[in-house]
Amino acid sequence: MASDDTIFALSSGRPPAAIAVIRVCGPQAGRALQQLIGRVPPPRHATLARVRDPASGEAIDEAVALWFPGPRSETGEDMAELQLHGGHAVIAAVLNVLGGIEGCRPAEPGEFTRRAFENGRLDLTAVEGLADLIAAEAGAQRRQAFRQLKGLIGDRAEAWRRQIIEALALVEARIDFSDEADVPEDLVAPALRAAQQLRGDIAAALADSGRGERLHDGLVVAIAGPPNAGKSTLLNRLARREAAIVSPHPGTTRDVIEVHVDLDGYPVTLLDTAGIRDSDHPVEQEGVRRARERAAAADLILWVIDGSAGEAGRADRVSAELKSEYWRIKNKIDLVAQNPCGSNESRSGNGPLRTFSISAATGSGIDALLGALADFARDYFSTTEPALVTRARHRNALEETLAALDRALAEGKRGGGEELIAEELRAAATALGRLTGRVDVEDLLDVIFRDFCIGK
Ligand code: GDP
Repeated sequence: MASDDTIFALSSGRPPAAIAVIRVCGPQAGRALQQLIGRVPPPRHATLARVRDPASGEAIDEAVALWFPGPRSETGEDMAELQLHGGHAVIAAVLNVLGGIEGCRPAEPGEFTRRAFENGRLDLTAVEGLADLIAAEAGAQRRQAFRQLKGLIGDRAEAWRRQIIEALALVEARIDFSDEADVPEDLVAPALRAAQQLRGDIAAALADSGRGERLHDGLVVAIAGPPNAGKSTLLNRLARREAAIVSPHPGTTRDVIEVHVDLDGYPVTLLDTAGIRDSDHPVEQEGVRRARERAAAADLILWVIDGSAGEAGRADRVSAELKSEYWRIKNKIDLVAQNPCGSNESRSGNGPLRTFSISAATGSGIDALLGALADFARDYFSTTEPALVTRARHRNALEETLAALDRALAEGKRGGGEELIAEELRAAATALGRLTGRVDVEDLLDVIFRDFCIGK
């Protein structure tokens, strides 16, 4: 992938659509505009232009053309953008002209963003924020992603890295000029004080119990319970679409089905676990194993029982094996003559936190359950400070930084050598540099950019 290639792609969604946005980036971007519309419009001004096939002179479309000369462009390189009518043939004709220009080729997934990163327009945490913004399904995820894109963790990490480098400079000055008389003796002490202060700041950022990562992935609510209790029917109700197969025969939902829902702006992943019961059938056994594993790791379990079958006692004994917090859902109350829907609280020993009486089939009691789930998500995520750490990668890098600072401080306390202190401070700065992508991250890039779409 030579970086002086000019790349192009359809950056908007799948055609046919009202409008298609085609972007071109690289040294031939201006030439591409010349070929397609016969001129290069003034920078950053929307210009109406006739788009022609340069070979035949035939008009392809009328478009809005934009010209963003580098380095003041999104990628830092020359960029051209055409807003065309979003038909298949229009798009194909324009892409065909672009492909015929020497030095132009179709972009790889995420390649525009990768250039923005390589040209220093975005750091790695902003790139991740951008990917998260495109993937965001719930409002709270969107807000968190936008904060990352705008440098919430990236700017903080860079400021920390600068402070470490300043401390390192003091220690190195002490090493380099140790023989000279006019170098103050205590250059190391202020460096260690700065390291101590930083240590506190980073530890505070890490002590957020994974809230940012959880918002990134969604709270997990598992729907579990004996076969035929109505779990799949309930999932469909909650998700308001047909995601799980509802069947009158027990034991048909063998796999764990996952549905992402937005509850009042908070992301919740609902899992429909296979009917948890012992079975001789190997495929079913595997389903049972996976169901138990996912349910055990969930933030909340909805333990569904057939409220009309009078087996609540037995079912509760099964659910007591599950260590996670759970709510008891008495389903099929439409089959019970005088059993009103609703909920009540009970907090005894290993028992459920709350009980809801519902009918997944008729929908009664579902609104109360959805409201309670939204409150649960809101309570979980609501705090005043936005989370800094939104990915395991961030957490690892900050933990590495913290460990290196601790080693530097321990070395200082022992009255250890300045060389050793300097080495640990350097390791701390490197860990932060990897977080923002300033140093040595070739190995990470493919993983991070792989998740982007083409044209971004
Ligand atoms: P699962 O095995 O727990 O996932 O149960 P299903 O969702 O497949 O439901 C089992 C059977 O119970 C199906 O025939 C459903 O139509 C039925 N069912 C589920 N919920 C209700 C309900 O609230 N009332 C009634 N009458 N039937 C229900």
